[in-house]
Amino acid sequence: MKLEVSSLSFSYGSKKILRNVTFSLESGRSTALLGRNGSGKTTLLRIILGFLKPACGSVSVDGKEVSEMNHRERAKFIAYIPQTLTDIYPYTALETVLMGRASSLSLFQHPGKKDEEKALEALEILGIAHLKNRAVNTLSGGERQLVLIARAIVQDASFMIMDEPTASLDYSNSLLVMEKIEELRQDGYGILYSTHSPDTALQNGSGILLLSDGVSEYIDNPEELEDGRKLSELYNRQLCIKSIKTEKGRKLVCVPV
Ligand code: ADP
Repeated sequence: MKLEVSSLSFSYGSKKILRNVTFSLESGRSTALLGRNGSGKTTLLRIILGFLKPACGSVSVDGKEVSEMNHRERAKFIAYIPQTLTDIYPYTALETVLMGRASSLSLFQHPGKKDEEKALEALEILGIAHLKNRAVNTLSGGERQLVLIARAIVQDASFMIMDEPTASLDYSNSLLVMEKIEELRQDGYGILYSTHSPDTALQNGSGILLLSDGVSEYIDNPEELEDGRKLSELYNRQLCIKSIKTEKGRKLVCVPV
């Protein structure tokens, strides 16, 4: 399947936020969205999710316009994973994951045994089945992020849109969450995530979308950024990219000059 963003422009009042943003995301690929604060990342994600209407351009999945889909239809194609759980009510991890089934059930239908099996399977995929009866407000940030990803898995959508999935996580939890995201990509999901970490993008994105003052440039292969020029321009700091040999192959890292 293919999620296509074409010639997208958006303004808040007279303030232009996105200018002619174009890129596509296929199943089995991930794209990291990099940009400074205020560059329009959240606005772009909100348009893709159908929360905001663009002034021009379109977002479509396999040729079907997202803006013409109702909430349920859209949920079949695109799942959203917020930065963090904002619920203060102490639902268990299993109950929280089951909420991802809502768009597949009719209005007053309760989740059944099959839904529960699906939710347990998602928790198992992410290695957190042992947490199923724990209240989410007692979980660590990393564990909560995995619960949110499990909730998206049971939605059975083809694409996952993640708003800074590793924000506020410690280093080991960030690595864990990114490893799980990579496994989901290998399972065939198309994943778009925003991040403030160039290293995360360089090491995990199949592709990278640079967003600077609403203007986008899609980088198909992180190695295209190796001379450091584009990231230096993006962050307005002189940066260089180093290639480091590890047991699992070459990794790119971004360092200030
Ligand atoms: P990012 O996620 O990259 O930090 P945003 O998409 O949140 O950027 O914001 C892009 C620009 O749009 C910023 O200048 C921000 O102040 C402005 N903005 C965001 N939301 C609104 C809004 N509801 N009304 C007016 N301006 C907004």
